[in-house]
Parts: sequence; structure tokens; C-alpha cells
Amino acid sequence: MVQFTKLRLHGFKSFVDHTELLIQPGMTGIVGPNGCGKSNLVEALRWAMGETSAKRMRGSEMDDVIFGGSVNRPARNVAEVTICLDNSDRKVPAQFNDSDDLEVSRRIDRGEGSSYKVNGKDSRARDVQLLFADSATGAQSTALVSQGRIGAIINAKPTDRRGLLEEAAGITGLHSRRHEAELR
Ligand code: ATP
Ligand code: MG
Repeated sequence: MVQFTKLRLHGFKSFVDHTELLIQPGMTGIVGPNGCGKSNLVEALRWAMGETSAKRMRGSEMDDVIFGGSVNRPARNVAEVTICLDNSDRKVPAQFNDSDDLEVSRRIDRGEGSSYKVNGKDSRARDVQLLFADSATGAQSTALVSQGRIGAIINAKPTDRRGLLEEAAGITGLHSRRHEAELR
């Protein structure tokens, strides 16, 4: 699977200033007091991977991910998150598979929606979602479980739980491609 090596963000939720985090191989823990932004960092990953639901980002509309201002800082109009990936084992879809390092960015401009870039080239949300879905199949897949979701998984209806497990197993990309093929 591709290894996440860096997370860069600015204007995203509480991370108003340019912030860069190195992600080393192995386990990473984020520690800090309540409200310091731990969940916001995990959400930044999920958002740059193509999340479409504002609710899953704990907002009512997608613009809510943009820094909304604080007592001494005015609100921003742009948020941007970049994930750097080590693609040396070349697991991503062919159109992106020509380099060992990949940078996937998503940017949102207030009132104008999101745009994506892969290694500086404009990309579709769909291609970014499939890039992550495909680069993580099987037991080593990327699965993000948010705070409070464990209870939801336990209490979910069997069909919903299957959806969550499929996502964790990394086969969602295959399903959504099959769905697209059936619509054609
Ligand atoms: P806990 O330990 O309670 O889970 P946490 O470290 O996960 O806390 P987060 O939920 O990531 O904390 O961060 C919450 C903080 O982010 C709050 O102070 C909230 O005001 C701030 N925040 C969220 N969205 C925005 C935004 N759009 N603009 C500015 N601040 C924001
Ligand atoms: Mg949290």
C-alpha cells in the first residue's frame, strides 16, 4: 500500500497557519488536550482523500472546513490540505503511477467548492477517491474510524455494517466502478 509521508494544511478548521507534519512508517499517535485539533487532523486526511459529506466532517456545509475565525484572527476564505505519498511500490491507478512521490491536494474556496490536484495537475474528485480506494486493497487498507463510530458500527444494521467492512477491506473502489459500469 502507499505510505503517507507528509500532511500539509492551511486554513483548514483550527489549522489557520501553514502546518506540516511528517508521518513516519509505523504507528503514529496524536496526543493533546481536548479541543486542540486531533480529530481535525484525521479529518484533514479524510477530506483530501475525497470526502463528500459535510456531516462526516462535523459541519453543515463543506465551507465549514475553512477556518471560521477566532477572537484575534479573522476568518479565511480558502482551505488547502496536501497529502504526500510514497508510491515506490507503484500501487496507484495507472494515470498517476509515473512517480515515486505523489502529492494529492484539495482546496476549497468559500462559496466556490473544491478542486483537486495530483502532482500539481488538476484532477477530478472521482480520480482522487479511486486513487486511495485502489492503493489500499486487502488487509493493509486505509480505514479511518472516527471518534464515536465504534458504537455506531456495533449498532449498525447488517447492510450498513457490510458497507463499512467493504470500505475497510478496500473493495469500495471496485463496487463503485461496477456501479458506474452498470449505469452506462
Ligand atoms: P477531543 O480530545 O475533545 O476529541 P480534539 O483534539 O479531537 O478534541 P478537534 O475536535 O479536532 O479537537 O478540534 C476542535 C476545535 O477545532 C474546536 O476548538 C473548534 O472550534 C475548532 N474548529 C473546528 N472547525 C473550525 C473552523 N472551521 N474554524 C476554526 N476552528 C474550528
Ligand atoms: Mg477528537
